Order: sequence, then C-alpha cells, then structure tokens
Amino acid sequence: MALNAFTVDVEDWFHVCGVDDRLPTGRWNDLDSRVERTTAALLDDLGESGSGATFLIVGWVAERFPALIRDIASAGHEIGLHGHRHRRVFELSPDQLRHGLRDNLDAVRAAGVTSEIVAFRAPEWSMNQRTPWAPEVLVAEGLRVDASRAPVARVGSAAFPRRPYPLATAAGPLFEVPPLVTELAGHAVPLGWGWGLRKAEPRDVLRAIEASNRHGDPAVLTVHPWEIDPEPPYVRLPAPLAFSHYYRLAGFRARLRAVLAGASFGPLRDLPDVTSWLAC
Ligand SMILES: [Zn+2]
Repeated sequence: MALNAFTVDVEDWFHVCGVDDRLPTGRWNDLDSRVERTTAALLDDLGESGSGATFLIVGWVAERFPALIRDIASAGHEIGLHGHRHRRVFELSPDQLRHGLRDNLDAVRAAGVTSEIVAFRAPEWSMNQRTPWAPEVLVAEGLRVDASRAPVARVGSAAFPRRPYPLATAAGPLFEVPPLVTELAGHAVPLGWGWGLRKAEPRDVLRAIEASNRHGDPAVLTVHPWEIDPEPPYVRLPAPLAFSHYYRLAGFRARLRAVLAGASFGPLRDLPDVTSWLAC
C-alpha cells in the first residue's frame, strides 16, 4: 500500500486567525483549554490504526503543555512548527517571521523534543502568493519541508501544484508538500482538510487517496485537535471562518478513524519524495 502523510496542526480551539477582537492573544491563558485531551484522543486513534503523523506545534501549546509535546514525540511521530503565536504569515514582517520561528523552535526544544525539526505549516495556509519573501526565511532558519501552500483559491491558489515539488528561494530550495484537493463544479476544493474532509464520506476520501496513489503521488491529510472535540466551545465568527471551523463537526472523529483504517499514513519525512529530498 502506498504511503500517504497525515498531519496535525496542534492548536487549541481559540487559536483562530484574524479575530483579535473576540479571542485576543492576551486572553488565551484564561480560556478553557482542550488541546491536551483532544490531541490525546488523536494519538489514540493514530495508534489504533498503526498510523504515523507529523504534528505541527503552536509555540503557545508547547510552552503551556510540554508533557503533551513529549507524549507526541515519544509515540514516534514527527514534530514540526506551526507558528509561535499562530499568526498569519502575511501579517508579519520578515523579521517577525524569523523571530517567531526561533521562538516556536525554542518552545518545542524546551518541551524536550530532541529530534531534527525540518517541517513547517503556516497558520491558515498563509504562506502563499501574498508572501513571496517568506520561503527564503524558512530555509535560512533551517526548515526544509513546507506544507503551507494550499492549491485552492482564497487561502492559496488553484495554480499551485498538487503534487510535492521543490520551490526555489535565494537561500536554497524548500520542498513543498501540498494537501489533497478535489474538483467540485470545475473548481479545486479541499478534500484532505477542513470542511472538505469533514463533509466527505470516508469511502470518497479513500477513493481519492487511491487515485492519487495510482498516479504515483502521496495524499496529504491534515486535521486540528479541536475538530474531534464532541462539544467544542462556540465563538461567533465571521461567515467564512464559522463555516471552516464548525461545518459538520458531528461524527467527524468516527469518519476520520475510518479513513485512518483504510489507507497507510506516515509522517511527512517518510514520504519517499521527502526522504530523498532530506538525504541530498
Ligand atoms: Zn493553525
């Protein structure tokens, strides 16, 4: 069975981009955190299906729950970065991104992770055509694999490639690993994450993964711990965000378990293209 990648953006339910008026960073410590128990549930599901994954960690979570990060690493999963304070890359200057990556890495190291860290995903797919300067910063900071460029309109671009590819930067190339998409009425839409993954029935996701694998490509799926929370705290969000956060959460954990049971998943670093990239 071909190997696909499963990734988890390790963040809490209140790490929502662009709503500082409702969920300001300064209030995060006072909110009812659920990331420990929802991430533990994901670890259980991955363990039961024998799947490996890459966990991309928000620095705040590593600072607040270092034992959780150690549990993820000791289960054999790959650790990567997802931004120190979960801010969108296009809101940052190059210097702010650089220092945020360093703080993010320091927090993960301080939690006890000793393995090599090469992978990054920008919050809300925000390293895209709006931030042509950003991939170079990642490479200069020692990152080699990026999973931030969604090949769909709005958060990314339908013109981005759908299979893994190197992206040239002035500091050297970065290897891009895009998430799984499908076509709906002539448009590329998410299938491997967010509302698209929650909407789809497991058999349809598995069929798309098989089709990808038949073409020699891996499928990359990604979830957030808060998506499998049976009763997530509700915050009134602007319409597109509310849809991407709350659409069809009911029953998602069971559907996800069926997907995990039906295909072979590992961390990004174990995809053959990524392994050979890291070896050279
Ligand atoms: Zn995120």
